Amino acid sequence: MKRIDFSKVIGWLGFILRCPICSYKYKLQNIRVIESQEDEQSNEARILIHSDCEKCKSSVMFNIDISGPEIFSVGTITDLTGKDSAKFRKYLPITVDDLIVIHQSLKQFDGDLVKALR
Ligand SMILES: [Zn+2]
Repeated sequence: MKRIDFSKVIGWLGFILRCPICSYKYKLQNIRVIESQEDEQSNEARILIHSDCEKCKSSVMFNIDISGPEIFSVGTITDLTGKDSAKFRKYLPITVDDLIVIHQSLKQFDGDLVKALR
C-alpha cells in the first residue's frame, strides 16, 4: 500500500469538517494533527486532530479512522486548546492508583485551601 499523505487528508478534512456547535466551516490553518498511526498491512490509518472554531471559539477533537475506501469520524467537544492538546499528549493516562491518592487527599482535606497549597 502506498503510504497515506496526511497533509492531503487534512486538506480534505478542512474542506468537509464543520463545527458541531455552530456549523461554521473549519479553516485549514486551525486544524492540527495530534497523533497519527498507519498500518500498511491492514490498509488502515488513524488520525487524531484538534480544531478550533474561529466563529464560536469552541474546540473539537476528531478521531478519524481510515479503513481502505471507508472513513469514519467521531468528534468530541473539548475545553483543551490546540496548545493544551500538544502539552497533555506527553503525559501518561490517569490510573486507578492516581484516583485513590486524590480520593484520600480529598477525604482528609479540611477545607483550608491556603493551607493545602503551601
Ligand atoms: Zn463553532
